[in-house]
Amino acid sequence: MTEATEHKSSGESQVFQADVAKLLHLMVHSIYSDRDIFLRELLSNGADACEKLRYEALAHPELAPSPFAIKIRIDKEGRRLIIEDNGVGMSRADLADSLGTIARSGTKAFLEALGEQGQNTKAEDQETETEADKPQKAGPGTDLIGQFGIGFYSAFMVADHVDVTSRRAGSNEAFNWSSDGKGTFTIVPVPVEDAPAPGTRVMLHINEASQTYLEPYEIERIVREHSSALAVPIEIIEKNQE
Ligand code: ADP
Ligand code: MG
Repeated sequence: MTEATEHKSSGESQVFQADVAKLLHLMVHSIYSDRDIFLRELLSNGADACEKLRYEALAHPELAPSPFAIKIRIDKEGRRLIIEDNGVGMSRADLADSLGTIARSGTKAFLEALGEQGQNTKAEDQETETEADKPQKAGPGTDLIGQFGIGFYSAFMVADHVDVTSRRAGSNEAFNWSSDGKGTFTIVPVPVEDAPAPGTRVMLHINEASQTYLEPYEIERIVREHSSALAVPIEIIEKNQE
């Protein structure tokens, strides 16, 4: 956390680290990549957060909710998909650092591999496309997206806007991180009653091309195919059934 982050006034736009902007652009424009993976990535973050809180609760038993759970809410009318966990949550600084910069090794490795792939044409690549064609077409990066866990930013493959509301375990403050994935994000305080207590709610405003992710059977299928081995139970809720 930096001083600058801590003292930002509410609602002021902050700029993504250059590598994040590059990654976001790449993912959003990789039309051949398997967009289903966004859900696996968000659910694994939720499960990781529960695991972190489970560990912290060994020393501070009062912090642990019981039981741990991840809820997926489908709001078809509002075109929103909401993934909420009751894990460790994020402070304001965590939100800025974890979601605004590339801190994670997997993403760094991805960008490095991408750089290498851009220079060496792959042997199995039979197509006669020019280097200049590649960034817009399947080109470098698309198969890498499947190989690497790309994490949180994969949300922008299916959403044109993402809101993350979070409350860190043990804190009585909550914040909302918000971005359209195009270069900037904002972080504003929100009333604690509006946040998970503790935990994180990721709200995806599903984009035009991804409306299929508002169908319960699609969500059930992806959970079954990609996330059936998670240690935390997953509940799928349709908004009108609450
Ligand atoms: P990774 O999970 O490999 O670290 P991600 O891009 O998926 O990379 O997430 C980046 C970071 O954002 C995580 O390491 C974590 O610190 C934070 N984060 C993301 N989602 C959550 C969540 N639901 N709860 C708490 N922290 C989260
Ligand atoms: Mg992750």
